[in-house]
Amino acid sequence: MALERLDDLYRDAILDHRRNPRNATKLEDFDTTGDAVNPFCGDEIHLRLKRDDQGRITAVGLQGEGCSINQASGSMLTEAIKGKTPQEIRELTDQLRKMMQGDPDAEAYLNSAGDLRNLVGVREYPIRIKCALLPWSAMGDALSKISEKELP
Ligand code: ZN
Repeated sequence: MALERLDDLYRDAILDHRRNPRNATKLEDFDTTGDAVNPFCGDEIHLRLKRDDQGRITAVGLQGEGCSINQASGSMLTEAIKGKTPQEIRELTDQLRKMMQGDPDAEAYLNSAGDLRNLVGVREYPIRIKCALLPWSAMGDALSKISEKELP
């Protein structure tokens, strides 16, 4: 996408994550995986997750390829979910989706969510919202597996 058209502030954060992706490792010790693919622009996100007894994410590794928005959002996700419970991650994902739809409350909520708040810049390019949300679909895939496993 024409990243140069993004607001400078957002662009810098997104490019930083694109160039220096966080947690871009192939985790060898993990208990859950999550995957999502968007053939439209070749975006792929593959997550491996490790959790503690309370279900909090203690480690995450992301393997992926795709456009800048997608890969940056994935990198931001890996930082944002660490130490969080599935419920907290669902809440964060929900707020992010709402923010993309223009919800001002969700935007305010994400202001305290670290680098993630920079994804608000993607809102101006509706065709790329799917790219930004794909890593969160992969996370949702992982969470759905966790829930299934934990059913009595
Ligand atoms: Zn994309």
